[in-house]
Amino acid sequence: MKKYLFISVVVVSIICFSDFVKASGAPADSRSGWKAGVARQIITPEQPMWMAGYGSRKHPSEGTLVDLWIKAIAFEDSTGNRAVLVTSDVLGFPKNISDHIKDQLKIKYGLSKAQVILNSSHTHSGPVLRNSLYNFYPLDSLQLSKIEQYSSKLENQVVALVGKALKSMVPAQIYSRNGVTRFAVNRRNNVEAKLLYQTELKGPNDHAVPVLKVTDSSGKIIAIVFGYACHNTVLDIYKWSGDYAGYAQIEVEKSFPGATALFFEGAGADQNPLPRRTVQLAQQYGEELAAAVRRVIREDMHRLPSGISTAYSEADLKFANPPTMEELRKISGEQKGSQKTWATHLIEKVERDPVLLNSYPYYPCQVWKLGDQPVMVLGGELVVAYSLELKKIFGPNIFVMGYSNDLMSYIPSATIIKEGGYEGATSQRGYGMPGVWSESIESTILQEMTRLGEQIMIPKAGAK
Ligand SMILES: [Zn+2]
Repeated sequence: MKKYLFISVVVVSIICFSDFVKASGAPADSRSGWKAGVARQIITPEQPMWMAGYGSRKHPSEGTLVDLWIKAIAFEDSTGNRAVLVTSDVLGFPKNISDHIKDQLKIKYGLSKAQVILNSSHTHSGPVLRNSLYNFYPLDSLQLSKIEQYSSKLENQVVALVGKALKSMVPAQIYSRNGVTRFAVNRRNNVEAKLLYQTELKGPNDHAVPVLKVTDSSGKIIAIVFGYACHNTVLDIYKWSGDYAGYAQIEVEKSFPGATALFFEGAGADQNPLPRRTVQLAQQYGEELAAAVRRVIREDMHRLPSGISTAYSEADLKFANPPTMEELRKISGEQKGSQKTWATHLIEKVERDPVLLNSYPYYPCQVWKLGDQPVMVLGGELVVAYSLELKKIFGPNIFVMGYSNDLMSYIPSATIIKEGGYEGATSQRGYGMPGVWSESIESTILQEMTRLGEQIMIPKAGAK
C-alpha cells in the first residue's frame, strides 16, 4: 500500500512538473524569460480641431470630456525577440502615418513591420488625421494645416513612446484568457430605432473580451491589455474622449492601481454599442467592459511560456468593376458636390499610384504568437465575420484585432458585399475608393492569415 502510494506521488509529480514546464516554459517564477515595459502619453489636441468619424459634424471640437491617450507595451522573450503593441484613442492610423511611424521604428530600434502593431480604438471623439477620410469632412485650409501639424506631432510621439516602452522593460510574467460581455449589437441586422420593441437581438457578434495580464517579477500587475469588437461610437458631442473604450481603461486602472490599461479594437465594424448617445451610456459600457476584464484577472489565467514569433504581409485586395480613368475625368468635369470631390481626389491618387484604380495592394495582415497565445491582426474597419472565421480556423482562444496598421476603408465579408448597404458599398466613396470590393477579398484575407499562421506554427482548431 505504502509502495503504491509512493509510486503514485512520483507519477503525479512528474505529470505536474511536465505540465508546468509546458505551460510556463521555465521552471522558476523569477526566470520566466519574459521582459515587458509600458509607456503612455496624452495626445488630446491643445486647440479646437475637426473631429473624426462622423460626416455630419458642423464645426470643430469644443473642449475635453476625458483625455485621449497613446499607450505602448513592449515585450521581449528569453532569446531577445521583441514585439511592441501601440494602442490609441484615435479613429485609425491611415497608411501614410502608419508607414512614417514604422519606418522610424525600423531606423531607431530595428523593429520590423511584423514586430509592431498600431491599433486604434476607433473613437469618433478624436481628431481627423492626415489624408484620412477627407471626402467626409468640410475642411478649410486652417483645419487642414491643424491636421497636418497634429499628425506630424503624433508620428513623433508614437515613435518616442515606443522608445520609452522598450527602455522601461523589466522581468515579467504574462497571462492570457478570453472573457465576455454583451453590449455590442449587430447594427446591420437590428434597427437602432426599434430596439425598445425587440425581444431578440440578431447576430452575428463576437462578444469575447481578450485579456493579457502582465506582472513584474514580484507579481505586481504593470499592464492589462484588453479588447472588444464594437464600434467606439456611443458619443457624438463636440468634446474629446476615448468614448466607452476610454472609460473602460479608466475603470480598469481604478481597479488595479499602478497598472496601465491598453484597449484594442477588435472586428467591430458592423457592431454598435446600443442604445447610445449619452455620456452615462459611454460610462456604463466602459464599466461593463472593465467588469469583464476584472473577472478574468481575478480568475485563473493561462501563463504564457516565453517566446515571440511575428509575421506580416500585405495582401492585394481587388475591386469589383472599378471605373476607368476616362469615366472618372468625366465625373470630375461634369458633376457637382460629393461626386465631383470623390472623382477629383481619386484621379490625384491614381495618378500618383496607378495600381490603386483596380486593387488595394497594401492591405496589412499580421500574426503574432506571444508564448502560445495567437494574436490575429488585420487592417481597416473589419466586420465581425472575419473574427468568427479565424476562430473556426485557429480555435476560439485566439485574439483578433481589426483597425490596425492602416485604416483604408471598411473590410466587409463576401456576404455583406453581396447584401450591400453602408459597410458593403456606400462607405467606399467616403474612403475615396474607386468602387466596392470584389467578393474575393474575404478568401484572399483568410488564406493569407492562414499562411502567416502556418509560417509561425500556430496550431489549427482541433489540432493537438
Ligand atoms: Zn467605423
